[in-house]
Amino acid sequence: MFVQACNAFSENTVLLPDGEGGVVVFDPGFSTPQEWEWFDAVLAEHSLQPRAVWLTHAHLDHVMGCHGMHKRYGLRPRLHSLDRPTYEMAHWAAERYGVALDPLPECGNQDFVDGEHLVIGQVELTVRHTPGHAPGHVVFVDDRNARVIGGDVLFQGSIGRTDLPGGDPDQLAKSIENAIYTLPDHYTVVPGHGPATTVGVEKAGNPFVNAAGTGMLQRT
Ligand SMILES: [Zn+2]
Ligand SMILES: [Zn+2]
Repeated sequence: MFVQACNAFSENTVLLPDGEGGVVVFDPGFSTPQEWEWFDAVLAEHSLQPRAVWLTHAHLDHVMGCHGMHKRYGLRPRLHSLDRPTYEMAHWAAERYGVALDPLPECGNQDFVDGEHLVIGQVELTVRHTPGHAPGHVVFVDDRNARVIGGDVLFQGSIGRTDLPGGDPDQLAKSIENAIYTLPDHYTVVPGHGPATTVGVEKAGNPFVNAAGTGMLQRT
């Protein structure tokens, strides 16, 4: 797995090789020539061909590279249907934040559903719907490697913001409790921003949502 912080929002773009020469690109945030160069270097060094673009959710910072992924490789992003409106809003968000966003391609037509089992090459992932930060947010659980590609739900010592359109603090707390804290403690969480953490560490000490129920979000 390769992770690169991209764009003005330091969004983690995640590359997951499929073990058969392909690579799945999660949340492509590439926005500068340097970020594309990093991507090209990883592909060249490991002889990888992009096979799919999968989104945890469609906030601006997670879709900035979708134009390039479509233009270069003909790949359309896949997401949860409830985040299609978020995807449509990305241009509005770009204007509001004053950042450039190339025209987004249409999404693929096979949306993720909760509980879906994804198989690509030797990679197997399970989709879990985790609303609260964005209505169609999903996380991808990789049981074989004890990790979760987690997007903007749970961060090291923090959580995703809930003040954006479609955000909901109660939903977010439930998503973390039901979809992430139910995983084994040793599972690594690869978040959409910042360093990786583990389920056990956050469950024990996350100030917003934790197993003791004393988190700031749990008390509201
Ligand atoms: Zn987000
Ligand atoms: Zn983000």
